[in-house]
Amino acid sequence: MNKFKPTGVRLRCGPCKRAMSFCSYSRVDLQYHCNGCGGTASRETTDDEKRLWDIWQSIQSKEIDELHHPWHQFIKTFRSNNEWKYSGWEAMQKMERFMKRFPQVVEVGVDDDYFASSSLYFIPHSTKTDYMGTSVVYIPQCTGEDPIAFFLYEGHAKNLADVLKTLLRAHRTARGEARR
Ligand SMILES: [Zn+2]
Repeated sequence: MNKFKPTGVRLRCGPCKRAMSFCSYSRVDLQYHCNGCGGTASRETTDDEKRLWDIWQSIQSKEIDELHHPWHQFIKTFRSNNEWKYSGWEAMQKMERFMKRFPQVVEVGVDDDYFASSSLYFIPHSTKTDYMGTSVVYIPQCTGEDPIAFFLYEGHAKNLADVLKTLLRAHRTARGEARR
């Protein structure tokens, strides 16, 4: 995400005379931090910085909209007042159509608790430059249950991938297959 950069004067630490690092911002003032003594200081934002801030804010909110766009559309299509509108086979059919609109959604086949073919759908929250995580929707085909959604941050996704890789590797080793 584009970062706001102050254009006005950079503060120096009183006690150690070091140039301080810019650490946080509001529309009213800028906070600086000294890497030497840990001291803090602030100054008012300049008019130029206020203008930049407003531009940056509008870019940021556009980027956030873009980041969550497929997920928001998913919610709009599949839920109403927090209730799921479809389940089972019907939801899977709707999902097939949804994936045509959002080709970034990835489907992985699983079995539900009745051993019927079902799916996990991975809906990324990402733009060209950012990745926040992935929503996962599980739709069991024949159990009569509502779909379930959960969110994987990058760390969650990595842990899950590691567990699956480890299990598969152990299974292959147990069968005496060459490690891949
Ligand atoms: Zn200092």
